[in-house]
Amino acid sequence: DVAMYRAKGAGKGRHVMYERGMQEAALERLELEAALRTAVSGMPTGDELLLHFQPIVELDGERVVGVEALVRWAHPQLGVLPPARFVPLAEETGLIVPLGRWVLREACRHGAGWVGGRRSLDRMRSLTLTVNVSPLQLRDPGFVDDVRDALRDSGFPPHLLLLELTETVFLQEDEGTLETLRALKALGARLAIDDFGTGYASLNYLQQFPLDVLKIDRRFIDAMCRGGSEAALARTIIALGDSLALRTVAEGVARPQQQEQLRALGCEYGQGFLFAHPVPPEEITRMLNEGIGHGAEAA
Ligand code: C2E
Ligand code: MG
Ligand code: MG
Ligand code: MG
Repeated sequence: DVAMYRAKGAGKGRHVMYERGMQEAALERLELEAALRTAVSGMPTGDELLLHFQPIVELDGERVVGVEALVRWAHPQLGVLPPARFVPLAEETGLIVPLGRWVLREACRHGAGWVGGRRSLDRMRSLTLTVNVSPLQLRDPGFVDDVRDALRDSGFPPHLLLLELTETVFLQEDEGTLETLRALKALGARLAIDDFGTGYASLNYLQQFPLDVLKIDRRFIDAMCRGGSEAALARTIIALGDSLALRTVAEGVARPQQQEQLRALGCEYGQGFLFAHPVPPEEITRMLNEGIGHGAEAA
């Protein structure tokens, strides 16, 4: 089943054949883009975009010390979509800038309720709020102002905001990036490097940029239980974080064995399905008050 199209820019009379599947995929993408545009422009009154939050715990004792904001899209027809289904599209189209601005503001709004609410317990007042920042947002000239505004408007304490960056940010060694990161630090915010170990940036950047937290990618944690060289890699990453005075957070902790191994290796913090899945903000409020149920209960 093949459709014929005149290819744009190709010589007169030349035809390029596309599989119908490709045509459908292209159409689907266009539709998804239009719907995402609507969802993003509907903010802040629209309610298609949602934030879920996943607890980050001390590996020793499982006290909740922070939460990570993770965006979801309640698509009118397709249901709730994970970021993998629309964040790449948002990045390709530039929609990630307004979308990310909304995430930041919404996260700070909830965060302010948790750390500064009249009924907040003492241990909630130091809750770290982690927000993902796309490389594109970081390059946006208005980004530092956006962060400043989100903090000011919500009253969320700057030193509790942890901005999560990926290694790709450090691939191009440009002065602009360094300047932006310094400006963010000057606001009082902290910086994390996410998915550590999966990128191709040189280790050099760890020293050059003002980072505070290193998040060990899930793939190392997954592999750890299989023993041998993977455990050695995880150990090396933890030691590296240690020697650079960075806090280390293990991502994707899913089994008690991993928690034990990580503790033994000196990793202080963890995030993963073992402790809790990402949940709506109301659930976080409950978890902060009552603590997390362990493992299956948390799901
Ligand atoms: P990330 O920043 O590395 O976030 C952690 C992801 O790992 C989340 O997926 C979380 O649900 C998942 N996860 C946590 N614990 C476990 C576990 O034990 N096992 C497994 N298999 N997975 C676990 P999620 O929410 O689907 O987000 C995926 C990625 O999308 C994030 O990876 C982040 O890169 C991106 N993302 C999410 N929210 C935002 C946002 O607001 N802005 C931007 N720019 N990117 C975002
Ligand atoms: Mg991230
Ligand atoms: Mg993350
Ligand atoms: Mg990650």
